[in-house]
Amino acid sequence: MLHSSYIELNKESLNNNIRFLRKKLGGSAKYSMVVKANAYGHGIEELLPLVEDCGVNHYSVFSVAEAMRAYEIKKHACELMIMGFIDDDYLEWAIEKDVSFFVFTPERLRKVIDVSKKTSKPAKIHIELETGMYRTGFCEDQLDELSVLLKKHSSELLLEGICSHMAGAESIVNYKRMLEQIETFNKLCLWFHGEGLQPRYRHLACSAGVLNYPDSIMDMARIGISSYGFWPSDETKMMHLKEEGFDEDPLKRVLSWKSLIMSVTNVPRGKYVSYGKSFRTNRKSKIATVPVGYGYGFSRTLSNNGHVLVDGKRVRVIGSVNMNMAVLDVTDVENVNVGDCVVLIGEQGDESISVESFSDMNNSMNYELLTRLPRHIPRREAL
Ligand SMILES: *Cc1c(COP(=O)(O)O)cnc(C)c1O
Repeated sequence: MLHSSYIELNKESLNNNIRFLRKKLGGSAKYSMVVKANAYGHGIEELLPLVEDCGVNHYSVFSVAEAMRAYEIKKHACELMIMGFIDDDYLEWAIEKDVSFFVFTPERLRKVIDVSKKTSKPAKIHIELETGMYRTGFCEDQLDELSVLLKKHSSELLLEGICSHMAGAESIVNYKRMLEQIETFNKLCLWFHGEGLQPRYRHLACSAGVLNYPDSIMDMARIGISSYGFWPSDETKMMHLKEEGFDEDPLKRVLSWKSLIMSVTNVPRGKYVSYGKSFRTNRKSKIATVPVGYGYGFSRTLSNNGHVLVDGKRVRVIGSVNMNMAVLDVTDVENVNVGDCVVLIGEQGDESISVESFSDMNNSMNYELLTRLPRHIPRREAL
């Protein structure tokens, strides 16, 4: 093991999640798997081939850099969609490679027309519409100008989609705002139809849209977090488990994170462990070190707080998490040896450490925690 920890990806879990979410999508809507932010920390190089094996052939990213990585990795014919940032200098690349992208300003649209003329190839664009999130998107007073441009430049612009994004579909407190967004989007779809503009995909839903607002699904959904086996929120999870009779969780975590025991030491009673005085032994103790710290994705908030699995048992992280090491109290684990596997996220025996049980973090922190997993940690398929 060259690095001090590794991440395993479980294809069966991924396949399970995609199957579950496809059922929610219904027969005809397209599944776009969101693989931005290094595939939510899973590692795009390792994850994308597994997604391809699961039969998904539409991927969403945020930036050109991410699109380029996905483009290099993919083995099969697929569609790539950039939902966010493109520098003008890279429009040509996207157009050349048939990568579709969101357009949310008239200036960008004009630039795209210019570049398309230069490359003699139409650009596949998704017009992003303002429906109530107030982040990016064409507003109502820009629509007439938009329509004129789209019609006039139909040989430079392929209307691949019209789209918008939901501003908090995971939480019931946003219920009314979500209904209004869906309604606004539907009205805008009708307006496009009335203008004789026919997009290939109308898309609005993210994971929480698919799970909580079936009306938001339209022709395509951009599904991130749930593909990886996480509920967008606890309440979404509870609603579904209740509907389905509190059966087994239909979503399975794809990722596990593992390291190993680096050293084992006995410590007398009454001694401070690791930097400072945050932890003092109240008994004769046995401690073990794991070579992961906050510089390696294991957050400092886990100091005196986190748990990991050793020999099938939950053990506590004691003292402060250092830049490259964490200390465990393994006094109650009989069998601990240097080189033994330590599960930071995942299962061992009957025990399990979930991403959210990393500490007292809530579900919405899943996104942040996952995407902070450093890129240098090796990823591999779980066997
Ligand atoms: C990230 C993102 C998604 C996916 O959201 P999840 O909650 O992870 O499913 C969908 N659409 C846009 C525009 C996004 O930026």
